[in-house]
Amino acid sequence: MKRIAFLGLLLAAGAASMAAQAPAAPKVIDIVKLKDTLYVLTSSTPGDAATFSGGNVAVFITDAGVTLVDDKLAGWGQAVLDKVKSVTAKPITRIINTHTHGDHTGNNNFFGANVEIVAQENTKTNMEKMDAFKGENAKFLPGKTYKDKMSLGSGKDKIDLYYFGAGHTSGDTFVVFPALRVLHTGDMFAWKDGPLCDRNNGGSCVAFPRTLQKVVEQIKDVDTVIPGHSPMMKPSDVREYQHFTDELLLYAMDSMKAGKSVDDATAAFNVVDRYPGYKKERVKGAIQAVYDELKK
Ligand SMILES: [Zn+2]
Repeated sequence: MKRIAFLGLLLAAGAASMAAQAPAAPKVIDIVKLKDTLYVLTSSTPGDAATFSGGNVAVFITDAGVTLVDDKLAGWGQAVLDKVKSVTAKPITRIINTHTHGDHTGNNNFFGANVEIVAQENTKTNMEKMDAFKGENAKFLPGKTYKDKMSLGSGKDKIDLYYFGAGHTSGDTFVVFPALRVLHTGDMFAWKDGPLCDRNNGGSCVAFPRTLQKVVEQIKDVDTVIPGHSPMMKPSDVREYQHFTDELLLYAMDSMKAGKSVDDATAAFNVVDRYPGYKKERVKGAIQAVYDELKK
């Protein structure tokens, strides 16, 4: 038995080193049709470097051209373009960056300086700190920004952008296609797991549930939700996630008050058991963020 286990280990090690030497996998992105004028270039699992292309990208086909919501990781621009071309002959004329992260802004430069790039004003400030947008590349920063709310286009082509406060970062945009009753949440609802609160970019796990509450209260008339990194969801999933992040915050605050370590608090976190389909892989990071934010 021992010998077989050892052989297994050897084989596994061999497979791992072969995988490391193998040529890069072809860059293929899946596309999902939501409506005649709206598609999603879907996201794979963050962490799997070989296949991870970045977040869910909305492809909205308007009379004036194609609007993308987010544009995936650097290096995936051609794969994005190929998929867009498979559903429309119209050019990409506008990119909305939901937030600063490279898996949502990585191809602004690929699509060029003639494309209108739109983001919340704090996201532009966050993007200015990224190497990808320094010097010559500053021309790929958002040329159009807003503070709380902005609408683009009209009628069936209308897009509403909302900013409700800090959460994943300090500049997360919620994008609504009112005529289609679809909402793109960016990473304010990335997955059914602990939220990622990027404190270096103004994110806050303390503010997170409060920010999501505003979405629940103010964005009505939506049937379909495009999350940051998961398959399509419904508005009820957003409401559930708001409850989850709120419970997680209260739990972390109580644990901190009781003098528990982050590790102990994470180990005892069983709130997740009451949320079907939820994972606990990112709970520790969220509890840590609450501790860091609240410690004096
Ligand atoms: Zn992100």
